[in-house]
Amino acid sequence: MTTRNASPTPLTLLGLGDMGTALARAWLAAGHPLTVWNRTPAKAEPLVAEGAHVAPTVAEAVAAADLVVVCLLDDASVGEALAAAELAGKDIVNLTTSTPAQARERARWAQQRSARFLDGGIMAVPPMIGIPEAGGYVFYSGDHALFEQHRATLGVPAGARYVGTDPGHAALHDVALLSAMTGMFAGITHAFALMRPEQDVKPTAFAGMLTDWLRAMADMADGMAHQLESGDYTEGVVSNLAMMTTGNATLEATAEEQGVHGELLAPFMASMRERVAHGYGDEGLAGLVDLLRQR
Ligand code: NDP
Repeated sequence: MTTRNASPTPLTLLGLGDMGTALARAWLAAGHPLTVWNRTPAKAEPLVAEGAHVAPTVAEAVAAADLVVVCLLDDASVGEALAAAELAGKDIVNLTTSTPAQARERARWAQQRSARFLDGGIMAVPPMIGIPEAGGYVFYSGDHALFEQHRATLGVPAGARYVGTDPGHAALHDVALLSAMTGMFAGITHAFALMRPEQDVKPTAFAGMLTDWLRAMADMADGMAHQLESGDYTEGVVSNLAMMTTGNATLEATAEEQGVHGELLAPFMASMRERVAHGYGDEGLAGLVDLLRQR
């Protein structure tokens, strides 16, 4: 579990779902005095033996510490749970998943209540919490002084990455990475579907090739980033859109041969074709970023 590398700042945690419970255990293991509250009180009971103090109401939980971490289901549950609590002078760190607009609005809401506010987007699943080598981390954005003051405490459950004073930026970084992951999973699903009828290729053997290939291709993101910054979408292109679009026909024909519906790849391929039709066949993929934003 986590080593005792942070000064034991007292804190309050609201929410003991799967993620909240994992967070609580990490702070308790690191020796932080912890007050917890959960709507369903039974979920707090196992933590008492680990040293948690259980508050019967949100108001009492918030009153127990200056640093209040919130990890509830969604933004609506945060508003509901904290509606009657006295937040003046508190440091609110909201780890509840929200949209950037919700996070910005929640920051204004906190400011109106004379509280400092930091939003967080957790890039980890509960078993990764409190285990540094698992590689999980949390994006933080909002009040920089709050982040600096509590950096060590916030770094106990998972690494802490501050991404700016705009309170919406943690959520935006979180969702951008999850969106990229979703597209990757679509590709993985399609690839397994192509291989599925082949009795002599075990999915476990194929998975190794798949992950090696995806890791190698992921570096393409750096090239796209350089093109987006320079504005020259032909810079360093080794696989241009015209070539890739021609290759897509082979991907589509193979899907048909293997009896696989192309619905997961079709929208992306259509965007590539559209960009080529607009005369940008010599570019890489960066121009698709503009195409998406023009729709
Ligand atoms: P759970 O569904 O396990 O827990 C939800 C928590 O929210 C419970 O404590 C629940 O209380 C509470 N809650 C729901 N509605 C209300 C309400 N109206 N008022 C008060 N409390 C309420 O979710 P997780 O713990 O897994 O997730 C919590 C947050 O962490 C979410 O925003 C999620 O997106 C985020 N997250 C989760 C990850 C995961 O893998 N689990 C990964 C990354 C982020 P009760 O026990 O009474 O139902």
